[in-house]
Amino acid sequence: MTDRTSEALPISVRNITKTYGRVHALDDVSLEVRSGEFLTLLGPSGSGKTTLLMVLAGFTRPDCGSLKFGDREVIRTPPHLRDVGMTFQSYALFPHMTVAGNVGYPLRLRKVPKTEIGRRVEAALETVQLGGFGDRRIDQLSGGQRQRVAVARAIVFEPRILLMDEPLSALDKKLRDQMQIELRHLHEKLGMTTVYVTHDQREALTMSDRIAVVNHGRIMQLATPRDLYERPANRFVADFIGESTFLPVSRSGKDVLYDGQRLLCEVPQIETDNLLLMVRPERVVLSREGPRDGVNNFAATATEVVYQGDSFLLHADLPGGGQMVLRGAMRGANVTALPAVGESLTLCLAPEDTVLIDGSER
Ligand code: ADP
Ligand code: MG
Repeated sequence: MTDRTSEALPISVRNITKTYGRVHALDDVSLEVRSGEFLTLLGPSGSGKTTLLMVLAGFTRPDCGSLKFGDREVIRTPPHLRDVGMTFQSYALFPHMTVAGNVGYPLRLRKVPKTEIGRRVEAALETVQLGGFGDRRIDQLSGGQRQRVAVARAIVFEPRILLMDEPLSALDKKLRDQMQIELRHLHEKLGMTTVYVTHDQREALTMSDRIAVVNHGRIMQLATPRDLYERPANRFVADFIGESTFLPVSRSGKDVLYDGQRLLCEVPQIETDNLLLMVRPERVVLSREGPRDGVNNFAATATEVVYQGDSFLLHADLPGGGQMVLRGAMRGANVTALPAVGESLTLCLAPEDTVLIDGSER
């Protein structure tokens, strides 16, 4: 396949709404996907991810809104004229056709000459590392191979936009991890503007240039994996990406207090009467020798200690009625003696790991 990075197209979604009866599958969604970007829609089941992808592909007509590929308004353009390749949530391969028959289908639909079809099908199969598999039947393939056939079919006509709906969700973990890296490499090689859908936050973090977190048909936050994890816009995003516990805090002038204690932290400019301290378990440091200088110290009592091989989890109660969870590395003193339930400890949070967020859910 040729390198077409220079020909990738940006996507502009403006104020798109799609309702089914009383369900707002998409609720006034606006989104800009950059040319050549790998953007992931991440959200729980039923949040509207597939609906948005179907709108991009042209299989679903929204109630209102605008959709542009580059400068071109495409909201009324039928799917096969949109220059979009797509893999569906169920692979949607044709079981009665061979691998080559499946992959060549979009080319036949576009009336590409027969000799040309053979050449391009083989090139697409090479790209997904299925060279020589053209004559196989679909039911002779493993899940991972079927997935690759679906990808080959989506890219065979060299579309400028590639849409993928949970392509790896049916695969076991090991294969999924491997395919994540492969799809990412494929994207780097082909350079198509890619919109990828998953409900798996780790997959989204692994693969994406940027992630749009979707809930109830709305975009909660659009940011790089790092910004999303480090600075979630609200509690929903913080809960959905990674693990966290939350502690209620209060403002006192310019300060922020937890249980009467002033926190060393950056105070964000957010208007909310529900300010929360977000604590990521891997950022909490265990001190068994009391408070430390230059950090936020929380006196705590261990309530649960769970050995997990490479790490351990410690749940603790704080005097103010809150709970904190710490994930610690299994090394050093922890290998010989983990903290015991009931033990009094100090949990430390560096100022840069003391992150305040808007506690609202949406
Ligand atoms: P996701 O892909 O994030 O799981 P969907 O986009 O499939 O979510 O669905 C979003 C919402 O729209 C859900 O509540 C779903 O039940 C509803 N929905 C989707 N498609 C249809 C349809 N064809 N008819 C009725 N309701 C639908
Ligand atoms: Mg879906």
